Amino acid sequence: NDFSGLGLSAKVIDAVAASGYTKPTDIQAQAIPHVLQKRDIIGIAQTGTGKTASFVLPMLTLLETGRARARMPRTLILEPTRELAAQVHENFEKYGKNHKLSVALLIGGVSFEDQNRVLDRGADVLIATPGRMLDQFERGRILLTGVDILVIDEADRMLDMGFIPDIERICGLLPPRRQTLFFSATMPPEIQRLTSRFLRDPIKLEV
Ligand code: AMP
Repeated sequence: NDFSGLGLSAKVIDAVAASGYTKPTDIQAQAIPHVLQKRDIIGIAQTGTGKTASFVLPMLTLLETGRARARMPRTLILEPTRELAAQVHENFEKYGKNHKLSVALLIGGVSFEDQNRVLDRGADVLIATPGRMLDQFERGRILLTGVDILVIDEADRMLDMGFIPDIERICGLLPPRRQTLFFSATMPPEIQRLTSRFLRDPIKLEV
């Protein structure tokens, strides 16, 4: 299996093999070793390139050490739409089926009660749209001081949808010493400005 040279854990490699993938895509081969070395990343990649697994697989490996504390998610993934957020959630279920991780999904149309129960117990992964996340933060349901990894996915769509002020606010609420994984299909100036403000010495990958 060509996934075995990237530094992923055995559990993750097993889950990938079970899903039938034998070869990492370009973005996966490039991003996974750097994510495992805790580097910040700018991935210029479209949907369909396998970019979701390029962050989900190494995040699963990194999450195998440590555990979540009440209301303090360990990782935060921001998605522009509820559909994309739900897809990322499915990826965590598929590749993380041997991990017993707790994953919360904060999007419109999913009941707050169920998600708050997951957050209260301690979520390893919080997947959210920016508005919904800030809403729950303001209600005091989430503490962001324990977030080790932030993923900003589809940043150019976030821009189109007017989410950049929300993203800036969220970045300001997170610990400055964290890992940031940033994905966008294009890099307009507003997006470049965001990366220079919130990423540290990022590795730039283009597929
Ligand atoms: P994404 O770009 O993350 O939306 O993924 C696009 C599609 O490629 C999804 O249906 C994935 O299940 C699939 N996929 C992801 N990684 C691989 C891989 N290494 N080999 C084959 N298919 C993959």
